[in-house]
Parts: sequence; C-alpha cells; structure tokens
Amino acid sequence: MKNRFLSDLFRCFLNIVFPNTCVVCDNYLVRGEKTVCINCISALPLTHYCKDPDNKICKIFWGRVPVQEAFSIYHFEKSGYVQALLHALKYRSRDDAGTWLGEQTSRILKSCHTLDRIDVVVPVPLHPGRQKQRGYNQSEIIAKAIVSKTNIALDTKSLQRISANKTQTKKGKYDRWKNVSSIFKLVETNNLTNKHVLLVDDVITTGATAEACISELWKAKPASVSYVAIASA
Ligand SMILES: [Zn+2]
Repeated sequence: MKNRFLSDLFRCFLNIVFPNTCVVCDNYLVRGEKTVCINCISALPLTHYCKDPDNKICKIFWGRVPVQEAFSIYHFEKSGYVQALLHALKYRSRDDAGTWLGEQTSRILKSCHTLDRIDVVVPVPLHPGRQKQRGYNQSEIIAKAIVSKTNIALDTKSLQRISANKTQTKKGKYDRWKNVSSIFKLVETNNLTNKHVLLVDDVITTGATAEACISELWKAKPASVSYVAIASA
C-alpha cells in the first residue's frame, strides 16, 4: 500500500516535471494509458476498411495505379479527434502520437493478416527542408512503429521527395496530378524488387500524392504494392 502510494506520488511529480497528457484532449493520462486517453480512443472513428477488399481507398486507385490492398485506419473529420492527433504529430512535436498511430495500424493490419504478406514498408517522403523544420517525417514515425516487433524491413532511402509541392487547393484533378507527379523519385531499387511493398501515408484526400509515390515504386519491379493511410477525408 505504502509502495503504491509512493509510486503514485512519484508519478504525480513526474507529471509536473514532464507533463504526460493525452495528445488529443490534453487531459492528464492515468495509470495504464499511453499517449491517448481511453475516452479519446473510444471516440476515434475506425473505418474497418481492412475487412473490405473493395473499400473507398481501393476505389481511389482504380484505373490510376495498381495496388494489391489499400486502406485507411480512421475517418478524417474536420475538428475531430483524428485531426487533433495528426495535428499534434505534425505541428506540436508530439512524435509519440505517430508511434501510437503506427502501433494501432500494426495491430489492425495484423488482425486482417495484411502484415503477414508485406516484405518492406516505405513511408511517403517529406521534403528535406520540411523534415529539418519539423525534426522528423511523420509518416516515417508511423512506419517505424508498424514494423517494430515484426521482421518487416523499413526503407526510407529508395523513394525520395525532390521538391516541395505547391498548394493543392483550387486546382483541378489533372493540375493536382501534374503538380505532384514529378516531386517523387525512385533512387534505389534493390530493396524493393520482387518484394511486396507497403506505402505508409498520414492522410489521403484526392490520392494524387499516393498515386505519384506508387507509380515511382512500380519502377523498382516489386511483386506488388499496397497502401495504408492513417486517415481518409
Ligand atoms: Zn484524451
């Protein structure tokens, strides 16, 4: 009892020095919670797309670029819980949000056996300038957590971003495609040839960025390419 009291006291002290708060609602986390509190977890809108081979994300790629399997984990809602999570990851230096999201993604992809079929995971590259500014690539943090505790390789070198894209808003479908089609480049093929590659992204909207990455990945002659995004708008 006394030990429990002391450990709780120590935890309170740690919370004051290093605040351990939920990335979504900013409430203090309690014992057993990590990164996201239980209330926020239950409010996150799961898509369950991994159980549906003809889901909305697969359909985005139909007629554009071949993908074996494609999913998003959560529905993206403006001012919603998923947006808060991704905002914390991208703009509030909460890289633990990315690790948490990657762990959830890994759990879901394991449950539908997708992960058993993957050889190598490639995160959507961030422009080096942006990465320097943020300190990390958010998709890489997610990808790293997906492969941890598996034998799957993580490849952050083969696919590179060679320029930053200009703002996409107010552009038509063709212009958006033209805007992003030349910003990714496959610089190395050895890790990907004859492999089943999983591309990892944070959010998918039109699919233009994902399509550009996947077309580059196909240049390495992989066995197949699959795609997962944390959220879909
Ligand atoms: Zn919360």
